[in-house]
Parts: sequence; C-alpha cells; structure tokens
Amino acid sequence: MTRRLLPILLLVAICRPAPGDEYRLATFSADVTIPLGHRCMGILPTKAQRIESPLEARGFVLLGPGKPIVLLAFDWCEIRNDSYDEWRRACAKAAGTDAERVLVSSLHQHDAPVVDSGAQKLLDAVGLQTELFDPAFHDECVRRVTAALTESLEQARPVTHLGLGQARVQKVASNRRVELPDGRVNYSRGSNSGGNAAFAAADDGLIDPNLKTISFWNGDEPLLALHAYATHPMSYYGRGGVSWDFVGIARDRRQRDQLDVLQIYVSGCSGDVTAGKYNDGSPAMRPLLADRLYQAMTKAWEQTERVPLERITVRRTELDLPFHEGDEFRREAMEKVLHNEEVDVRQRILAAMGLASLDRIEQGRGIDVPCVDFGPAQILLLPGESFVGYQLDAQKLRPDSFVMTIGYGECWPGYIPTQAAFDEHFGHSWRWVGPDAPKAMRTALEQVLLPTANDQ
Ligand SMILES: [Zn+2]
Repeated sequence: MTRRLLPILLLVAICRPAPGDEYRLATFSADVTIPLGHRCMGILPTKAQRIESPLEARGFVLLGPGKPIVLLAFDWCEIRNDSYDEWRRACAKAAGTDAERVLVSSLHQHDAPVVDSGAQKLLDAVGLQTELFDPAFHDECVRRVTAALTESLEQARPVTHLGLGQARVQKVASNRRVELPDGRVNYSRGSNSGGNAAFAAADDGLIDPNLKTISFWNGDEPLLALHAYATHPMSYYGRGGVSWDFVGIARDRRQRDQLDVLQIYVSGCSGDVTAGKYNDGSPAMRPLLADRLYQAMTKAWEQTERVPLERITVRRTELDLPFHEGDEFRREAMEKVLHNEEVDVRQRILAAMGLASLDRIEQGRGIDVPCVDFGPAQILLLPGESFVGYQLDAQKLRPDSFVMTIGYGECWPGYIPTQAAFDEHFGHSWRWVGPDAPKAMRTALEQVLLPTANDQ
C-alpha cells in the first residue's frame, strides 16, 4: 500500500507550483441593492417598494502563475451589452488582469434590476430617464464592488486544492416544456405554475438534477464554496419586494454554517427550467424551496473530494449569435416603438434593449465564452438564458470531468433555445436570438471545452 502511494505523492509534490509562484485566492462581496422606486426585471410594472433582502455581488480572484482570474456573481436579473463589458473591464483593472479572464454572471432573480447602458441612453433621448435602470446607482455599484475586490487582494490566501462535490436537488426544478394528456406540447409552465393541476402533474421534463459545488482549499482549510444549480431562481416576483429569493436564502443559511468560507451561488443554464411544477407562487413556498436547495448544498459539501490544484488553463472563444428573425425586431420597427409616446413604456424599454443589441451586433462585437479548465474540473460561462440542454451537452463533451456550467453571462440574447425547442416553435418576447443560434452554441462549446494543442 505504502509503496504504491509513494510515487503518487512524489508526483503531486513535483507538480505543485514553486514557492512564490503558488496559487492564491482572494474573496470579496459588496452590497448592490437597488434603491426604492427602481425598476425590476427591466419591465415589471410594479417598481421596488420595500427591501425584503439585500442584493449582493459575491466574487473571487484566483491569483497564480498566470494572470488573475475573476468570477463575480450578482443578485441581479441581467447585465447586458455595454454594461456587461464595463463590469469586466472595471474588475480586470482592479485585479490587474485582462477582461477576458473575468467571468460575470447574474443569478437572474426577477425582483432585481436589468442593466444595459446603451439601452438606457436611448431611453434618455426620448425622455425616459432611469426607466430601465438608474445609472448613478450603477456607477456607485461599480465603485463599491471594485473597491471590495481591490481590498481583498491584500488578504489573498494560498490555495492548494480544489474540492469537488455534487448532490441531487429534490423537488425544485422542472422544465417549461410540458406534454399535455392530449399530446399537445407547450412551453407555458412558468415559475409559479404549480397551482395548475396539469402543470403540477406533468413530470419534471429535461433538467440537470445535480447541484455542483467547487471549493478552494488551503490544505485542510476551506476558503470558498461555489455552488451551481440549473433553475430559474424565483418563487414569486413582481409584488414590489426586492429580494435575493430562495437561492439567496439558501446561500445565506450556508454562509451562517461556515462563517469563514465565502458561499457563492450561481445559476446554471436554466432558460427553460423553473420551480414551476413544485411551486404555486405562495409566500410559504419561498422558504421551502430555499430549504431544498440548502439541503443539496450541504450534501454536496459533505460529499466533497479534494484534488490538488496543479494547473489552470483559460480557453475562450467569440460567439456570434444571430438576432431575432421577426419583423418586429427590425431596426425601423423598434425605433418606431421607442419613439412612440402612445405605446406602453415597457414596450419602449424592450425596443431600446433590442436596439442596443442590434447596434452591438452590427459593430461586429461577439459574445466572449470563457472556460476555466482545472484539469479534473471546468467552469464554463454561457450567455443569457441558455436552455439546460446546453449544460447537459457540455457535460457530454467531457464525460469524465466535473463540468460546472454557469448561465446568465452576457444577457442580451435572452432565451437561447436548443434546436429541439426551435423545432417546436418556442416563442417568447424575451427571445432575442434567431434560429441559427443552436449551431453557433454547439461550436462554441466544442471550442472551449475540448483540450487543444495550445493548452499549457
Ligand atoms: Zn428568465
């Protein structure tokens, strides 16, 4: 036994970075709660009336032989276009790295803001100041988060191991797609559809049942736990209460269990996954859903196995997603809506968001898709409301590895349906991409997940 183990231990020692060149981890968080009166989810008619829980940005900086890698997760609904680029640039500057090595994701709670500075500028020009979001508040958030990041660098701790753990989440996630008893298919099971007997009775559909936790360790001492699960994070929304919702409650409870280990939660690819089958939208369900997620976080932690952190490769590719094919998404049509004072303000906000995305596409600015490859595990960040099929495809591309997929990176695409969903005519006003999107997504997955000759 001892003779068999010895060479392995020697190998581990050899592969470890030399002193002074080791990996280190800095963790940080900052408050990003919207002020009262602020718009939620970009277009909800009821603005923020009370703060039920704060909204936070939580992140880490991984320092080491290469340039720093940053991950930042927001209790916000979406960050889009110029605002998304602004966050990556600001964090890169604060961490002394390149924007391409900054992963920014929103958890996608709906009682939380959508930010897109290009869209807000278009709204400003037609007299709709702060209708999408408040730029002064946003500037203050950038200042606060980057200050927290900078300050954390002084406290960076050595990191020697990764921890990998996963556990099934019971009775939270179900797919929007439902086959009704008469054979018809629809995608109408939303996040609080559990009160509808047919939606409650239909099976889960396509989901990823596992919550994954990647942790960072200094020897035996845990430093950080990053949890990912693929579901929309809302129990109910649109009633005026700002909230980090059930996912934030679960994270907060885990944080109280382990005060010294920063708990970060991210939403996986869950454009078509919600708590719909199990949730009727009543306030009593919020703590129940939180408890189910918390139980899986705890179990994933208990089942964590440590592996030495020996190398990190960051692969990235640029993804060009086509804009929506519909006539109402043409520039002239959206401009007409934006300028029409007779039209509901929510329609004008949607038009401004569409125009900001179209501007970006016409400027040839693609979507950056980054993948941080640790060898035995990967962290992959996909844009918008990618459907869960993409997360499952990512795992199939690396079947022997621990692939954590995060959704809601660059959020301008809204829903990114799979080919199967396009074939079934998935339609929704929050879909901004055209039917060729699945092909481009597949290519991007292969480019960032499969090891290449350039890997070091
Ligand atoms: Zn959504």
